[in-house]
Amino acid sequence: MTRGRIGVVGAGVAGSSAAWHLTRAGYDVEVFEQYDAGHDQGSSHGSSRIFRLAYPHPTYVALAVRALLEWRRLEEEVGSPLLDLTGAIDHGPADALEPVHAALRAAGQRVEYWSGQDVADRWPGLRVDTTALHHPDAGRLHADRAVAALQTAATGRGARLRFRTPVRRLLVRADGRVDLKTDDSAYVVDQVVVAPGAWAAGSLLDGLVHLPPLRVTQEQPVHFAAQDPLSWPSFIHHGGAGLPAGGGTYGLGSVDGVKVGFHAVGHRVEVPEERDRSIDEIALQKVKAYARQWLPGVDADRASAQTCLYTLTPDHDFIADRRGPVTVLAGFSGHGFKFGSVLGALAVDLIEGREPLPVFSLDRQSLKTVVTKGS
Ligand SMILES: Cc1cc2nc3c(=O)[nH]c(=O)nc-3n(C[C@H](O)[C@H](O)[C@H](O)COP(=O)(O)OP(=O)(O)OC[C@H]3O[C@@H](n4cnc5c(N)ncnc54)[C@H](O)[C@@H]3O)c2cc1C
Repeated sequence: MTRGRIGVVGAGVAGSSAAWHLTRAGYDVEVFEQYDAGHDQGSSHGSSRIFRLAYPHPTYVALAVRALLEWRRLEEEVGSPLLDLTGAIDHGPADALEPVHAALRAAGQRVEYWSGQDVADRWPGLRVDTTALHHPDAGRLHADRAVAALQTAATGRGARLRFRTPVRRLLVRADGRVDLKTDDSAYVVDQVVVAPGAWAAGSLLDGLVHLPPLRVTQEQPVHFAAQDPLSWPSFIHHGGAGLPAGGGTYGLGSVDGVKVGFHAVGHRVEVPEERDRSIDEIALQKVKAYARQWLPGVDADRASAQTCLYTLTPDHDFIADRRGPVTVLAGFSGHGFKFGSVLGALAVDLIEGREPLPVFSLDRQSLKTVVTKGS
């Protein structure tokens, strides 16, 4: 006897997490994904993502602490390693580091200030010209393996995953349930979780959920050849490469080399499936120039770039909220992956009638201001 039938739209990290948590909570789950398993059209593909607890906001710190436990639980459930904690360095202006330090301390998490020399002694491949924050409970997730693990764990608990099955239409019925239409079938579910990544900016939710304006961008991280890339910490250079505070440069070791990217600088994409996936040479040269100046441990001439989509909300905070039988997990603004092991738990809370976390609510003030301005 299940607690209800839930449709999940999208099998990126958010939808796959929803499937895992919903099956754990006893729901009958059917997942619909428009592409194949492991596809590279959206936001969750590739060999690595940063995991870190370090955020200036207590909600994110608490969620990341929970995510760490859930990644470990998932590793046990599927019997495969997903998360490597190699530590992290934040560097840049003191006013960017202080709130992160304060939030980690307030949450009782490990963090300390290091000098540039301390960083060079431990990781000579990184150059730091300010004080740095070192926090050990950070590192990298293997992205493709993590999504596959969420799907394996969900199917092991009874979820049905339908790949190459785009959901074309959602309709709330008079009885409060949801009609879900694909190209060749129609399903009736009690509630639906919509986790569509960049496709949230499309029309699927029209008339069901009023979303804030979402900006989809094509980002272009670069992998550099390096000695022993897996020993690298993850790092954030706040305001690095002359980017404004709030932006910056991120990096981490991976099986493909040391990955480096500028946060949220990519060009706007109107229709995700029609995006130009070609490499922007000028943007590539800028990341190489950054590597020459700040990353003595990489070979800046041996580099390869990939593209991937960000879905940015106006305030760069996530959307995890519900309207009637429609729960939305979206707008992860280029920093959602690390929370992938708990995003589905947020969906379970919403489906069961609990309030959204205020920072992720569709009613939050920071969205209203922008929505009013923009409309
Ligand atoms: C270059 C880059 C680097 C990043 N680095 C980090 C990092 O270091 N740390 C971190 O925490 N985060 C990072 N992120 C962000 C993180 O990867 C994303 O926030 C996360 O992957 C978003 O997952 P998602 O499930 O919302 O979207 P997606 O992975 O795009 O999944 C959405 C899925 O929904 C499917 N879909 C959409 N519409 C339909 C429909 N109608 N029917 C059926 N299926 C549908 C899509 O095909 C897709 O598979 C990075 C992102 C990028 C692009």
